[in-house]
Amino acid sequence: MRYVDAVPSAWAARSLADAAPGPFWLDDPARPEPHPPLAGSTTADLVVVGGGYTGLWTALRATEREPGRDVLLVEGRSVAWAASGRNGGFVAASLTQGEANGSSRFPDEMDVLRRLGRDNLDAIEAAVDRYGIDAELERTGALDVATEEHQVEALRAEAGPDDRFLDTTAVRDEIDSPMFLAGLWSPDTALVHPAKLAWGLRRACLDRGVRVVEGTVARDLHRDGRHVVVRTDGGEVRARQAVLATNAFPSLLRRVRHFVVPVYDYVLMTRPLSAPERASVGWAHRQGLGDVANQFHYSRLTADGRILWGGYDAVYHPGGRVRRAYEHREQTYLRLAEHFRMTFPQLEDVTFTHRWGGVIDTCSRFMPFFGTAHGGAVAYAAGFTGLGVASTRFAADVVLDLLSGEATERTRLEMVRSMPLPFPPEPLATPVIGLTRWSLDRADRSQGRRNAWLRLLDTVGAGFDS
Ligand SMILES: Cc1cc2nc3c(=O)[nH]c(=O)nc-3n(C[C@H](O)[C@H](O)[C@H](O)COP(=O)(O)OP(=O)(O)OC[C@H]3O[C@@H](n4cnc5c(N)ncnc54)[C@H](O)[C@@H]3O)c2cc1C
Repeated sequence: MRYVDAVPSAWAARSLADAAPGPFWLDDPARPEPHPPLAGSTTADLVVVGGGYTGLWTALRATEREPGRDVLLVEGRSVAWAASGRNGGFVAASLTQGEANGSSRFPDEMDVLRRLGRDNLDAIEAAVDRYGIDAELERTGALDVATEEHQVEALRAEAGPDDRFLDTTAVRDEIDSPMFLAGLWSPDTALVHPAKLAWGLRRACLDRGVRVVEGTVARDLHRDGRHVVVRTDGGEVRARQAVLATNAFPSLLRRVRHFVVPVYDYVLMTRPLSAPERASVGWAHRQGLGDVANQFHYSRLTADGRILWGGYDAVYHPGGRVRRAYEHREQTYLRLAEHFRMTFPQLEDVTFTHRWGGVIDTCSRFMPFFGTAHGGAVAYAAGFTGLGVASTRFAADVVLDLLSGEATERTRLEMVRSMPLPFPPEPLATPVIGLTRWSLDRADRSQGRRNAWLRLLDTVGAGFDS
C-alpha cells in the first residue's frame, strides 16, 4: 500500500471525531497573557515587527550584542500565535533545507553553511539553558525513512559521515512501521515544544528590557529624515532602525511580497499513548521522523507521549492570501489520519485530540533570503519554507549584521547576498503552483521521476515546497 493511493476510511473520520480545532502547543496553561497594544506615539532605537521566532531572536540578539539597546517588538496578535506556535518543533542544523538543496545552489560555501548551522543549533541549546527556558528540548537527531523502493538507494547515497543508514530490519527496530523500508538517522536535529520556546524567548526579551506590544498591527512603514516610522492603528513608532520579521504575512515592503507565497501545512496530534501502545511502536530514541517523498510527512513524540503527525498536503489557496479560514481543511485531516493508520496499524485505538493548520512562507529556493531598504535602516528576512525553527536565529544575526553596515562572515555569503526567483503574480501564480504540485504528486506516483516541468524548474533553480 502506498500513501498516494490511500482513500480515507470510516476509521479516519472516527479517529478525528473529538479532535479540537487548534494547535495542541498553544492549548497550554503556560501561555502568557498578551501585553496591551501600543497606544500613542513612542520612540525606540530598533523596532522589530513580528513576534514569531525571527522577531524574538532579533530583539534578544540585539540586546545581547549591544546591552541596553532600546528595542520595541510589535506583534499583530500575540507572540507565537502563528507558525512559531504551531510547528512540528524540529530544530535542524541545516540552514539550507537539507544538504542536497544547499549543495545544488551554493556548492562553494556548503562547508561554511554546515559549520554555521551546527553552531546555530548549539547556540539555541545554550540560550535555552542560559535563560532557563522550559522548551522540552531533546537532542534526538532525525530519522528520515524511505517508504518506497526507489527512495532506498537515494537515502543510502545521502548518508554523510555522521549519519547511520538503517536497512528495513534496523529501521523497524527503531520505529515499527510496515511502511518503512530503510532509514537514515542523522544527529544534527533537536526537538522542542515550539510554543514554549517562543514564550521563553519572549520572557528573556522582557527580562533584558525589550518592550513588547501585542495586538498591534503595523500598517505602514516609511522614512522620515533620520527616522523609520512604523504606523499602527493606535499610534506610531519612530526608530533609528527597523527589522521586518513578518514571515508569510504581507510584507510592509511591497517589493518583498513577490518572493514569498503563503502555503498551508496541516497537523494532527494523538492522545497520549499507553505504555503497551508505545511499546508496540518502539521509538526508544525519540527521533524526529520524516519520510522523503516530495509530499512528505513529519512526526514526533511529545513530552507526554503523544504522536504528532503532519505534512503531506501543502496547500496554496488561489489569490495567495493569509486567512483564518485556511487554518482548517477537513479533507487533509482525513488523509493524514488514514496515512497515520497505514504507518501505525498497531495503534488503531488511538484517536486524535487536536488538529490544526499553519501558514508557511514558501520561497522558490526553500531557504531564507535577506535584504535592506530605506538606505540600510530597514532589514528583513523571510522565505524559511517550513524549516525556520532554528534558522530564524541565524537570520536574526544576519539582519542585525546588515543593519550594522559591517561586513561579516554571514553577510559575505552568497546565500545571504542573493535572492530567490520571484513567484509570478496572480492570476498566474495559481495555475503555475497548481501545475507544480500536480507534477510533484505525479513524481511520487512514478518512482520519483520528474516530468519536463519539474526538470525545467530544476534547471532555473526554482521550485515549490513546504
Ligand atoms: C504546521 C507547521 C509546521 C512546521 N514545522 C516546522 C518544523 O518542524 N521545523 C522547522 O524548522 N520549521 C517548521 N515550520 C516553519 C517554522 O514554524 C517557521 O519557519 C518559523 O516559525 C517562522 O518564524 P517567523 O517568526 O518568521 O514567523 P511567524 O511565527 O509566522 O511570526 C510572524 C509574526 O509576524 C506577525 N506579523 C505579521 N505581519 C505583521 C504586521 N504588519 N504587524 C505586526 N505583526 C505582524 C504575525 O502576527 C506573526 O506573529 C513549520 C510551520 C508550520 C506552519
